[in-house]
Amino acid sequence: MSAPHATPNAIRFADRLSQVETSAIRELFKLLGQPGIISLAGGFPDAALFDVEGIRAASERALSTDPAAALQYGATEGYQPLREQLAALMAGKGVQGLAPEQLIVTTGSQQALDLIGKTLISPGDKVIVEGPTFLATIQCFRLYGAQLITAPIDADGVDVQRLEALIAEHRPKFVYLVPSFGNPSGALLSLERRRRVLELALRTQTPIVEDDPYGDLYFGAAPPPSLLALSAEVAGSRDWLLHCGSLSKVLSPGLRIGWLVAPPELLAKAVMCKQFSDAHTSTFAQATAAQYLQGGRLAAALARVRVVYAERAQALGAALRSELGAAIDFVQPQGGLFIWARLTGAGGACADGQALAQRAVQQGVAFVPGRPFYACDPDLATLRLSFATVDAERIREGVARLARALKAGWEA
Ligand code: PMP
Repeated sequence: MSAPHATPNAIRFADRLSQVETSAIRELFKLLGQPGIISLAGGFPDAALFDVEGIRAASERALSTDPAAALQYGATEGYQPLREQLAALMAGKGVQGLAPEQLIVTTGSQQALDLIGKTLISPGDKVIVEGPTFLATIQCFRLYGAQLITAPIDADGVDVQRLEALIAEHRPKFVYLVPSFGNPSGALLSLERRRRVLELALRTQTPIVEDDPYGDLYFGAAPPPSLLALSAEVAGSRDWLLHCGSLSKVLSPGLRIGWLVAPPELLAKAVMCKQFSDAHTSTFAQATAAQYLQGGRLAAALARVRVVYAERAQALGAALRSELGAAIDFVQPQGGLFIWARLTGAGGACADGQALAQRAVQQGVAFVPGRPFYACDPDLATLRLSFATVDAERIREGVARLARALKAGWEA
């Protein structure tokens, strides 16, 4: 007898999969294999900037000093020496009094987001995210049945007044923010707004998830302290904060090292869920990361990376201004990997990101249209342009091609 809804020989998937779709970015990436294309579409850091020597030496030390730990099963919470190094890293960024036991190591910060979804979201629960926000977060929270509500952002990050009104209206389970150089927005939440977010969390008793993979990729001055660091100023606010960190953008995404700081009862539940998911993050990767951080090379490696990304961000911004002029509007980012731009339609030019993306590929340049980064009410005129993996000269050529695509669209 066949089960309800089963078609012969068809696999019956879980209902939750109907909440998500294959990402539009993935479809676009299929086109990127074309020879000669300049890709401003990626979200990866530049592999040429990885500290390969430092990581090789750290992995050798991991094997020579503690081979059993590096190759054996380990604690779900994480490899203790790495937890200590990560707590020290956070202390260096102004997070006072964080014991290693107050964080767990996750398999990338993506797993931290998944564990947050698993521990907090029941189907139908409301969650507030920024519009736009990180695509994988949208998909991950939807998989757990979240009803996503978007809070608007500007160059100073989330509009806190609107956020307050949305919290009052929807009583969300939690709010998800990327305060520093978000993907895709590149926006930086101002110090004043950070304080207001903490006060809001405390006053309305709403958990805030702070996702911070890009905070160290600043070009000039360092960004304001993280919400976690600032929580020391607003007594009681730490109880409402979850913080996701990652070594992906500052060291290597392939190591898959992230971490989650959260109130103890939530952390205990996250550990339980992680146990059933991957048991623990690769002990070899954790031991390597611990050795690397202990070796003290991160600061110098980061300084090199910042200079390169700053130069590329500058080149992309300048080229967009000179080639596209009034047809495009954006705020020059102060860090991160992306320029988030909006087609203005000035002079009757194309103002549809998706249509322009297709024409752009024909001209030999790729970017991601903004639509998939919105959980709802997309602004179809937006685009995400990554400067991370393309050198300044190719960036200029890419933008010249983009200008041709815009012109072609205009005349069509
Ligand atoms: N959060 C944001 C905002 C991201 O852009 C990314 C990666 N692109 C992640 C989390 C996940 O990073 P990872 O799992 O590599 O730490």
